[in-house]
Amino acid sequence: MTEKVKDPVCGMEVDPKTASFSTEYQGKTYYFCCKGCKNAFDKDPEKYLSGGHTGHHHGHHGHGHHH
Ligand SMILES: [Zn+2]
Repeated sequence: MTEKVKDPVCGMEVDPKTASFSTEYQGKTYYFCCKGCKNAFDKDPEKYLSGGHTGHHHGHHGHGHHH
């Protein structure tokens, strides 16, 4: 089974093996469905990586908080 990743800009699923557009950010590779998405990400990566959570830069995930 091929592992798909999400285009962080538009949310489309992209296959890393066939994706023509990718960019590296903070040591991670992100894949995009089209050039436009890559450009948008390159312009403002934080906007797309924050995934709706506002503010935090150094993510606090995984510290065993429970609500
Ligand atoms: Zn896209």
